[in-house]
Amino acid sequence: MRSFAFVRTDDVSAAIAASADSSTAQQGASARFVAGGTTLIDLMKLNVERPERVIDINRLPLDRIEPLADGGLKIGATVRNSDLANHAVVRRDYPVLSQAVLAGASAQLRNMATTGGNLLQRTRCMYFRDTASACNKREPGTGCSAILGANRTLAILGTSEHCIATNPSDMNVAMAALEATIHVRGIRGERSIAIADFHLLPGDTPHRETVLEPGDLITHVTLAPPAPGSRSCYLKLRDRASYEFALASAAVIVTVVGGRVARARIALGGVGTKPWRSTRAESVLTGEPVSGPAFRKAADAALHDARPRSQNAFKVELARRCLVHALKEVTL
Ligand code: SF4
Repeated sequence: MRSFAFVRTDDVSAAIAASADSSTAQQGASARFVAGGTTLIDLMKLNVERPERVIDINRLPLDRIEPLADGGLKIGATVRNSDLANHAVVRRDYPVLSQAVLAGASAQLRNMATTGGNLLQRTRCMYFRDTASACNKREPGTGCSAILGANRTLAILGTSEHCIATNPSDMNVAMAALEATIHVRGIRGERSIAIADFHLLPGDTPHRETVLEPGDLITHVTLAPPAPGSRSCYLKLRDRASYEFALASAAVIVTVVGGRVARARIALGGVGTKPWRSTRAESVLTGEPVSGPAFRKAADAALHDARPRSQNAFKVELARRCLVHALKEVTL
């Protein structure tokens, strides 16, 4: 590991200023905030992340889960995954989120990993983590080793000729279905970003994964009140029963009235370059009777644009079946 400066503060403004202070050519470009460190420290050991300054945000007052006046929920950026998944209100009102977080990683990692860090979790593409391999995400312009290489676990939706890496987070898939809002503070003030706009498709700039600018700090996430009468669940399919990333997953939130789907929110994981909300599947499903054929039609719509590579064509049907099964879970 290379040497780096370490800064610890209990003040949000000071943390942001410390990030901006590390600027040379590009403001804040070489600084990283650290909380649980479950992604960042790994990647620093692998020499993939090489920050000059690491700013510890564990002492910032961002570790609370609080109800909002409108019936929604505010989740601080440094709330640990374990605390989020086991919070009584999350379990009662947002079971899809609790289930998704508990489906990720191991108990030890969930005790460390945070809400903000999970939003920024980086891909598990093996070439990204191996500095001897060409990787446009790690080193723009060097090429993508995965497109003609080991791509079994990689994405089939939202890919480009420059990168096919999967977003690995389970939590992000539930957040996408819940239409979470991410609140950020940076050197130019505060702003709120819908999760649909937060993660970027790789396009020809796969090294840019979110709309965050250097110095931006995620402060909290807000959720709208649960839709009346809705039921939700997260289903994750993987190579082994625990401590494994999704090959395909589905987060669904459905309201049924009179035997028909009145409202649906659908997001897929393990198959997209970003948490994959499928408004197309939602439209297909809305108004349909609760039935296997309707769910299958929605699943076909969700995977309509899938573009598999040499080793991951199986994910198309796996993701369809995952979504159908999740929809049955909450409706039948
Ligand atoms: Fe790098 Fe993306 Fe290609 Fe993986 S898929 S090697 S992360 S460019």
